[in-house]
Amino acid sequence: MKRFILAFIVISLLLSSCKRAEPAPELTPEILSTGPLAPSPAPTDTPEPTIAPEEFTRYNFEMTLDYSRHTAAVVQRIEYLNKSNFSLPSLLIVIPARFFPNVYQQTELSGDSVASFSEDGIRTTIQLIQPLQPGERTALRLSFNLAVPQREGSFGWTQRQLNLSNWYPYIPPLTTEQTWISHEPLIDSNNLVVGEYIVNEIADFQLTLRLAENLPNLLVASGASAEAIPDGMRYSLKKARGLSFSISNQFYQEQLEHNGILIQAYIFQYQKDKAQAMLQIAGQAMDLFTEIYGPYHYDQISLVSADFLHNMEMDGMVLLSSKILDFYDNTAENNLTILVPHELSHQWFYSQVGNDQAMEPWLDEALATYSEYLFYERYHPELTVWWWDNRVHAHPHSGDVNNSIYEAGTYENYRASVYLNGAILLHDLHISMADQAFLTALRTYVEENYLKIATEADFVDVFQAASPDVDIKAIFARYFEE
Ligand SMILES: [Zn+2]
Repeated sequence: MKRFILAFIVISLLLSSCKRAEPAPELTPEILSTGPLAPSPAPTDTPEPTIAPEEFTRYNFEMTLDYSRHTAAVVQRIEYLNKSNFSLPSLLIVIPARFFPNVYQQTELSGDSVASFSEDGIRTTIQLIQPLQPGERTALRLSFNLAVPQREGSFGWTQRQLNLSNWYPYIPPLTTEQTWISHEPLIDSNNLVVGEYIVNEIADFQLTLRLAENLPNLLVASGASAEAIPDGMRYSLKKARGLSFSISNQFYQEQLEHNGILIQAYIFQYQKDKAQAMLQIAGQAMDLFTEIYGPYHYDQISLVSADFLHNMEMDGMVLLSSKILDFYDNTAENNLTILVPHELSHQWFYSQVGNDQAMEPWLDEALATYSEYLFYERYHPELTVWWWDNRVHAHPHSGDVNNSIYEAGTYENYRASVYLNGAILLHDLHISMADQAFLTALRTYVEENYLKIATEADFVDVFQAASPDVDIKAIFARYFEE
């Protein structure tokens, strides 16, 4: 019985899908409060920028990693590009690793344009000697040591894995009102992290990795392309929201070249016989989403077995709970078949088209959940009723779809409203608009918001334009808190 209950809890957490059932870390009290947005820089004259659309902020890292000790020494250079229309007297740096006590130790923050800086929790505000004009770049240099926390999560280590996501200082996006988009994490009363609070704009990344010791069995999974250099590896990833790694000395790796995309599975060695199934589902999902949403923007994708009970999307990589593979039973009535498509669809709805994941999480999570349905409709049409029953109706599935993580308040409410009622909303739209207009709207939404941070208005406008005879706003009104 006990075992059954455990399995139920595990399956329940897995089904809630990506992100967010990870146990919360110990917190310093001042970080727990959900504060307003960070103060915005003072407005000044706003000349029109002339920035090439292919130019982005650049992040460059030199990292020496000690896998056995779970530490890293990092030198980071940020070549920040002001893509806004505003002249910026100051910059905000967010350091998510400071959410965890005694993890991030900074030894340098400097730059030719830095006048001074002040630190407050995860935020560091840098006063510039001169305002940074639209279209201008400024370079910052940081040195820091990471003592990666021992925890099951996308930033943490366990006995069989070290995961690095949201591990470095970044400069957040600016809203059109010239406010830095920087939120607080939310922990619910069951000590679960609710949703995602980090919002990134698109940037180009490069990292040189050197290992402190020679570990021949170590494999590094990443969304970035890797190139061997004399004393290490160099990773490059362009047009991404973040640079993440999952590293293990117990990985088994298998890959598939599929319609121009290299699909790589990094799973634990004891799961070796599940690699084929994972790669095959991934191939089908990439085919379908490329067809419906538009081209994939990288030439490879890595699917990684994660040593924790949730899932997480990153640019060019997804982490899937190792339990999903453990429970795989060679049928399509299974979490692997549900959640591989879910996580891969985030390459479009998160990576290509960004959104404020704290304030408007439905823009990626409802779409990713509904992508599961589209996958079943295409490849397992006889199981769509099963999908609705097991994925949606078996759980609480009501509440305002446009809840922020703070309005949802708890992990349970967040899943019920944003993910599950979100999928019901999208299905309602799908039926009301009919197939062709709905699919056209999805593709147009991706095209028009490619590499941007989309909002509810962007989404609703595209769907209304694709179906002028249907009152789209009335449909949304049934699911949204105004
Ligand atoms: Zn998701």
